[in-house]
Amino acid sequence: MSSLDELGYTPFFSAQIELLPDQEPLTPARVSAESHGLYELMGCTATLGELSGKLRGQLKAAGRPVSGDWVAVSEHGERATIRHVLDRRTQLVRRAAFKDGVPQAIAANVDVFFIVSSANLELNPRRLERYLSAVWDSGADPVLVLNKIDLVDDPALLEAEVRQIAGAASVVSVSAYTGQGMAELGGLLSAQKTVSFIGSSGVGKSSLANRILGQELQATQSIGSEAKGRHTTTRRELLVVPGRGVLIDTPGMREFGMLEDEGGIDSAFPDIAARAQSCRFRDCSHETEPDCAVVAATQTGELSPGRLHSYHKLKREVRAAQARQDPVLGANVKRRWKAINKAHRRSKR
Ligand code: GDP
Ligand code: ZN
Repeated sequence: MSSLDELGYTPFFSAQIELLPDQEPLTPARVSAESHGLYELMGCTATLGELSGKLRGQLKAAGRPVSGDWVAVSEHGERATIRHVLDRRTQLVRRAAFKDGVPQAIAANVDVFFIVSSANLELNPRRLERYLSAVWDSGADPVLVLNKIDLVDDPALLEAEVRQIAGAASVVSVSAYTGQGMAELGGLLSAQKTVSFIGSSGVGKSSLANRILGQELQATQSIGSEAKGRHTTTRRELLVVPGRGVLIDTPGMREFGMLEDEGGIDSAFPDIAARAQSCRFRDCSHETEPDCAVVAATQTGELSPGRLHSYHKLKREVRAAQARQDPVLGANVKRRWKAINKAHRRSKR
């Protein structure tokens, strides 16, 4: 059994447990996988937990625990009842997938996300920017990892390209194959911290994780096979790196799209945010407004039009998602489009 310390149990979480009003003593545990309403737990004696009836009623589907969550449980042997989900320090959410009007979390309480791209594939700055904003919004720190540098002649050139996108995020070039750069990457891990990998399929996330763990990631293991006759197989998604914290590897990370924006887009585009200070209008959208410093910068070549285009696209996606969520905003957007279409038709007459 891993100790709570090893699992990243910090005062942020212990303070919450101490404040719980429950009569019976509750034990902290960390969720390492979920399958059909059964949660695999670490840090407590029980290995499997289910939500209490009360919690099931209270929590909307999207608010239910995910990998990395800390929960308070009452234990009865091998099984536990989850009584509370502790407040998350960070959460990576998938905006495309709302359940019950709540954005769906993919992983909770991750401290550092390694955003992985591969040196042998066309670098996709727009995708990296997208991941960057998502990670900034999650509350975790992003690190841009350029993997497979063993496959190219001049990794420094590529790294420079990645740095242009990075903003305040750090950049590390590595090869999971030769081990080059792995010491630097490993240096970003630390006891009690949780790290995770995101990036497109095939960039080498599993290879990097394996290299860090110094072993093959645990293969599939079955959880809950004896439980209520359910036979489900799940991969444990949370792994303790001895002395170096915790690694979360969840399938959700592999195919996640757009996310809620809470300033993450501006953090991912510090160059645009800085120039926006000089726009005439404080709420300038850098599209058609007069005296827009951002558009001006694209004309002088200081800012690439592709980058501004990507910024607009992300902002539009956020607006569309918010409109879906917010009926008033949604109606406003609809009204605006109606007016725009009308004006457009009129202009064509
Ligand atoms: P994931 O889908 O992001 O988890 O990617 P994988 O870890 O499964 O790696 C995809 C493929 O890239 C595998 O065939 C790996 O052997 C290969 N690969 C991963 N890292 C490196 C690397 O640093 N150099 C080279 N040459 N190949 C790598
Ligand atoms: Zn502007």
